[in-house]
Amino acid sequence: MFCSVKSSVVAIILLLVVSLTSVVMGFVLIEYEQLYADVVEDNLTGLSQNVSQELLPILTSTKSDKARQVSIKNVLMPLDAYDSVFQAQVFGIDTKLIKHYVGPAGKKDILRLNQISQIDIPLMEEGIRIADGFMFATKKIGESPFALGYLQLVFDLHGPLSASKFSLLSRTLSTILIATVVVMTIAILLLNRLLQPLSRLSSFTKQIDSAKNYSLRFSAPGKNEVALLGKNINDMLDTINLELEKNKSHTKTLEAQQETMTKLANYDALTGLPNRQFIMDTLRFKLAEAKRNQHDVALLFFDLDGFKSINDSLGHEAGDHVLVEVAKRVNNLMRDGDLVSRLGGDEFLIVPNAEPSEAELTGICQRILETVDQPILMKGVELRVGLSIGIAKAIDANYDLTDLVSNADVAMYRSKSNGRGTYTMFSSDLIEDYKRKLLITNSIAKAIEEQEFTLYYQAKINCDGILMGFEALIRWVHPSLGMISPGEFIPIAEQSGKVPVISRWVIAQVCKEMAVIQTLTDRDLRISLNLSAHDLHAADLYDFVKAQIDHHGIKPSLLEFEVTESAYLESFQSSNECLKQFGDLGCSIALDDFGTGYSSLSYLTQIKIDTLKIDQQFVKEIDYSSRSRLVTSTIIDLAKSLNLTICAEGIESRIQQSYLTELGCDYYQGYLYSKPIPLADLFEVDFNFTREFAEESDVSLRKAENVYSF
Ligand code: C2E
Ligand code: MG
Ligand code: MG
Repeated sequence: MFCSVKSSVVAIILLLVVSLTSVVMGFVLIEYEQLYADVVEDNLTGLSQNVSQELLPILTSTKSDKARQVSIKNVLMPLDAYDSVFQAQVFGIDTKLIKHYVGPAGKKDILRLNQISQIDIPLMEEGIRIADGFMFATKKIGESPFALGYLQLVFDLHGPLSASKFSLLSRTLSTILIATVVVMTIAILLLNRLLQPLSRLSSFTKQIDSAKNYSLRFSAPGKNEVALLGKNINDMLDTINLELEKNKSHTKTLEAQQETMTKLANYDALTGLPNRQFIMDTLRFKLAEAKRNQHDVALLFFDLDGFKSINDSLGHEAGDHVLVEVAKRVNNLMRDGDLVSRLGGDEFLIVPNAEPSEAELTGICQRILETVDQPILMKGVELRVGLSIGIAKAIDANYDLTDLVSNADVAMYRSKSNGRGTYTMFSSDLIEDYKRKLLITNSIAKAIEEQEFTLYYQAKINCDGILMGFEALIRWVHPSLGMISPGEFIPIAEQSGKVPVISRWVIAQVCKEMAVIQTLTDRDLRISLNLSAHDLHAADLYDFVKAQIDHHGIKPSLLEFEVTESAYLESFQSSNECLKQFGDLGCSIALDDFGTGYSSLSYLTQIKIDTLKIDQQFVKEIDYSSRSRLVTSTIIDLAKSLNLTICAEGIESRIQQSYLTELGCDYYQGYLYSKPIPLADLFEVDFNFTREFAEESDVSLRKAENVYSF
């Protein structure tokens, strides 16, 4: 109701004025009533005195009753002049009523007149009494003890008092009303004056709210509450302004951070290329658009060949440098609108903008391969990397993003297995290949349970033709795929992280079969087994090997671990630590397939190996390639200078054997002597080749009896 302070204050003042006036008027009326009664009492006392004196001679006269009645009536008649007289009664000394006179008031109000007789006022007591709105004056006629009677006058106190009060009120009320109006007007004016700064303050805050301008200030002179409030509001505005400025700068920082975050979220920090998130979002959009318009989208997936070894041997700085350089070169080749992105690691995706023909796609791939084939210079050193590309098209993937990327990946893997540095267009038969890989991956665990793996052993001969040991090579007869070569399933197991399970099985099996193998000769025969890069990272491999050795009571020196150089270099540090443990235990370490994986030889001085196995690729070409002969002799010289034992593998001809013997090769392994054969068959074969080595001049080629296909 009183929504503003002003109306509330006005209402309060009005209430106060009215209450005060009412209280004052109440007191005035009470006082007035008292005064009135006093005046009437005085008058009545005087009147009763006069009348009683006038009545005295009448009562003392000896007139007849009638005459006395007339005389008394004459005395009382003047009372007609008093409007307030109700009645007058004259009594004898025996209180017998002598005369009853009805005054003007009694004549007017018979009802009240009759009431008087019911009021009990003792006659004998002189004086003034008030009862039921009447004033009774009782007076003896004559002096006591010679009084002759009594006079009682009854006056109306109520009627005249009410009339008098009414007239008093009507006279004063208008004055009170005027005074109240004046007071209220003055109060309102004063209030207006007082509250004006408050109203100004209110409109000021409204102005701030609507304009959102926090630099405005309220001016309120003086030191009253409103001025103080204004000052406080100004202080608050200062604070808001300050906070706003801070917020603005925070917002700017946040915006900058958001921009950086967006960049980080969508762009690769190293190469500056769009990242996986960005390319996937873009591809999703492009595929939806292409599907609507019945267009095709091509996708090129590539990764660097042998990137991991660069990273591991030359450090991450070199790896990063290679990635940046490749990204730059490939990006420079592409046209505006083509999208080159880095998926992560050494994997990249390219989405050509337009819908390129197959010829255009192969052209792009060739240009990419050529540009990346150029040496990359780093601190004066020339680095070389290759890359393998897979191409896939949206139509073949039915515009499904996951399938499209997976198809490109499958095609890229085909390029890798085709010898790297190539590109492959996706076709459905690659999927068959992929499915086979998947089946192999998923069958590994069951293969161990179902004992589908066996070990074959391939002999290792020394330069006198004497059997020195065997290399254990795993074989898998799959229930539906038949015999699978380790060359196929080991890389698949490596990719899917399942190779440690196989390696443990091989280690356990070799240790189990060791005792039987040793019965072949009366010399110690060393068994070599192959480890993968994954095994070298497994922290508990050493414990496992140690437990197997202890369990089967094997001499550690009879075990040799073969590790390819790429596996070794994949994680140089952990490989070194792992193989050092085996070395300390007494086992030998051989670097397998040497010469194929890596071009830098500097790491050879930093690793702890006993034997270097020349890859069969060089051995194979000894017959006809002078280059391979040169490489082989260089490797053997190098190994000798490093005090390493040399083992040549893949020897199939006496020419190869002769050449290797000439160079001083220590161990010989190949079909020329024996193919890998199962344990049981080892006892059927004669592993004595001393004659062949003695007859070095006999160059007639002796082909090994190929009894086993593996
Ligand atoms: P590797 O360790 O270099 O083994 C030598 C491979 O060359 C064997 O192939 C062997 O059968 C083959 N070989 C030996 N002499 C000749 C020859 O005179 N001519 C020809 N053409 N080939 C010869 P295999 O058994 O198919 O093994 C292939 C590769 O699979 C192995 O190469 C090794 O890297 C891997 N592997 C085999 N068994 C295991 C295993 O138990 N664990 C792991 N991690 N890898 C294994
Ligand atoms: Mg090997
Ligand atoms: Mg090898």
